[in-house]
Amino acid sequence: MAIDLVIVGVGKIAKDQHLPAIGKNSDYRLVAAISRNAAVEDVENFETIDDWLATGQKAAVSLCVPPSVRTEIARKVIAAGCDLMIEKPPAATLGEIELLRSASNKAGTVLYATWHSRRAAAVDPARRWLEKRSIRSVKISWRENVRQWHPGQDWVFKPGGFGVFDPGINALSILTEILPERVIVESARLSIPENRATPIAGDVAMRHKDCPIHMTLDWLQEGEQTWTITVETDDGPLDLTKGGAALSLAGKSQELERPGEYDRLYADFARLIQERQSDVDTEPLRIVADAMMTARIDQAPPFHF
Ligand code: NAP
Repeated sequence: MAIDLVIVGVGKIAKDQHLPAIGKNSDYRLVAAISRNAAVEDVENFETIDDWLATGQKAAVSLCVPPSVRTEIARKVIAAGCDLMIEKPPAATLGEIELLRSASNKAGTVLYATWHSRRAAAVDPARRWLEKRSIRSVKISWRENVRQWHPGQDWVFKPGGFGVFDPGINALSILTEILPERVIVESARLSIPENRATPIAGDVAMRHKDCPIHMTLDWLQEGEQTWTITVETDDGPLDLTKGGAALSLAGKSQELERPGEYDRLYADFARLIQERQSDVDTEPLRIVADAMMTARIDQAPPFHF
């Protein structure tokens, strides 16, 4: 039987990715949308989570709101006994996601903290290839145009909005999936526009065992966008490009399977519900927190959308 599903927050990512992925997955039946500004056709629409919970309906819930407002909504959903899938980053702080994890454990609900970039086509083959090789160094270059990907979204520059770590955490979600051991932050340098609260660019130095990792983040890149991770090994380089949509191993471009990231996330959620298992990995968020704690902060020119 199909899983009844409710989507909360009908913004950019819900429209671009969630609704199309749900629409083509017969494991789900979308029964309601919760939005202050938008309506989804052919389902019941509610303005707030309280309005929907007041109906007493039970369904799995997919939360597509920004991290700064996610925890309050998530707590209500879990308290009502509903299974829950949340966008990345899982919360604004490590404390909040631990709160959600324990609330969900106590309630016996499924909690799936998604990392969409981990479901990109190159990630599993990259992890398998690295398992048998010795890693020497890692370079991450994550440069994109905030005006293109977050048009007018002021929340990304407010406290709890992550700034350039909103995309940067995608790189960290891949990094922590393909490397076998824990990544430690050594130092960071972040640039914050003088009229904003979160970084617009940065460099983070990390370590994996004895190997150096360097990450460069830039949110003002125009033209071609760069989402690249290069791992130097004893057997040549691994080049993961296009955010994980392309992979080259020791200079040889690889054929990859093509299901979309969000198709895979919804397949995961259906499986987790079936197995009554949760999946909550906070490592990418922990690295961002450590980078913020160790960073030297520089002031950048004011930023306007
Ligand atoms: P968005 O369009 O700015 O926001 C999504 C929706 O969240 C809004 O349309 C709004 O829904 C709701 N919302 C925003 N502020 C709120 C508030 N203060 N209180 C209650 N609801 C609020 O953002 P988005 O780009 O979709 O990003 C949402 C999440 O998806 C973020 O965690 C982001 O990291 C992640 N994500 C984004 C992208 C991307 O390309 N943009 C890619 C992957 C993942 P209603 O107007 O419907 O109420």
